[in-house]
Amino acid sequence: MSRLGRTYDALPRPGQTLALNLFGVRNRLRMSTWARYIASIEHTERMAREYQIRFTADRLKEILAHALATVPRYEREKPLLARLEDPAADVYSVLREFPVITKQEVLADPGAFRSGSPGGARIVRTITSGTTGTPFATWMDIGTSTRTDALWWRRNVWSGHRSGEWIARIVGDPIVPLADADPRDPWRVSWVDRRIYLSSFHLRRDAARSYLDVLEKRRPEYIQGYPSSLEVLAGFALADGRELSWRPKAVWYSSEPMFEHQRDVVSRAFRAPIVGLFGSAERIVSAAQCEEGRFHLSLVDGYLEGQFGLIGVREPALVTTLMNRVMPLIRFELGDDIHPVPGVACECGRTLPVMEPVITKHEDWVETPSGRRVVSSVLTWAFKDVAGVRRSQVVQVDGRTIEVHVDADEADVATAGEILAKRLDEMLFGEMEIRIVRDLDIHVMESGKSKFVVRKC
Ligand SMILES: [Zn+2]
Repeated sequence: MSRLGRTYDALPRPGQTLALNLFGVRNRLRMSTWARYIASIEHTERMAREYQIRFTADRLKEILAHALATVPRYEREKPLLARLEDPAADVYSVLREFPVITKQEVLADPGAFRSGSPGGARIVRTITSGTTGTPFATWMDIGTSTRTDALWWRRNVWSGHRSGEWIARIVGDPIVPLADADPRDPWRVSWVDRRIYLSSFHLRRDAARSYLDVLEKRRPEYIQGYPSSLEVLAGFALADGRELSWRPKAVWYSSEPMFEHQRDVVSRAFRAPIVGLFGSAERIVSAAQCEEGRFHLSLVDGYLEGQFGLIGVREPALVTTLMNRVMPLIRFELGDDIHPVPGVACECGRTLPVMEPVITKHEDWVETPSGRRVVSSVLTWAFKDVAGVRRSQVVQVDGRTIEVHVDADEADVATAGEILAKRLDEMLFGEMEIRIVRDLDIHVMESGKSKFVVRKC
């Protein structure tokens, strides 16, 4: 945990609330920056297709030329620069001459993918533990980070959110210390930016009752959560036969696919439209669900091969950034199957390219002896920034034991295992026996994907 996190955890409850409200000031500023950016790109939502193709080609040309000139990995491809400079060149065909880049290749030598001339802006880094637990870092300028945050926020704007409305969040915010295994009220409120933070880490029956009480009292206009956390919360509401006296305007989800069985439980409990978002920590492409239920790609952040129907679709999808000049990932294999649906005239009036809702992996939870369900999107945080771990998998082998399969070199296993065991022990409230297993051959499903959490009981 960071020093900031430890300081927060040591505060008494009113101090934590104050800290969240101070953080809310920063959020308010960020929201107004996002609103300005969203307004500035509104015209791209309804551009005719031929303009979209040209708009994207212009940006592609610029980023490809930048990568060829300044990124070590593309030294060998430099002759393509001359092709790009030809005004008659088809940028999309030049793109297809670039090599496909996999996560493994970037992980092996991240420096080779960073521009030698990234510009003067402040550089930030996002890290994801990925679906298989491998930490993956992407460097970008602060502008790319802010603009792609704004594109995620745009989903909320499309679904009707206006300034001053309340959002309840259950998305892995560490707002209640894990050391407190049985807090009376595992939630916090920030009035400044109108957020109710519900701890995804403390989700069990009594906590769920407390969450539903605070939701009914404060009646937030929106609920935002990981599908698996929402499913667990909604499941507890239904199991208690609890009919909520309020209904939100929408339930928002992200980070995992929303499976039909989850959608069913969530919509029965909250009786509100369920609206999704697709994004990734690499910030290359994103999509938001519109009022008609379709996922529209953002267009301005990146290019998904096949989005205009000009060329075929690859599985897994290949994406190219149009924004990130610090680490311009080109023809990058995200690891998701994304299916564009070209030629759709959506009733919402937006012409942005449409894709099918993403189905990646079925995530699962670990269930502890006291009945806590700790979902995979929460467990994933334990794997952040653990040196030497290439891949990992959490397997619940019986009611009180998990095996953490770690694909790492012999020399790294002991240290990584110690960190993981400690973090997971906290997350699981010391209720589970945790075995670390070095496993160089982590089980992969027939589809080529592997599940992060597997329950064998
Ligand atoms: Zn639409």
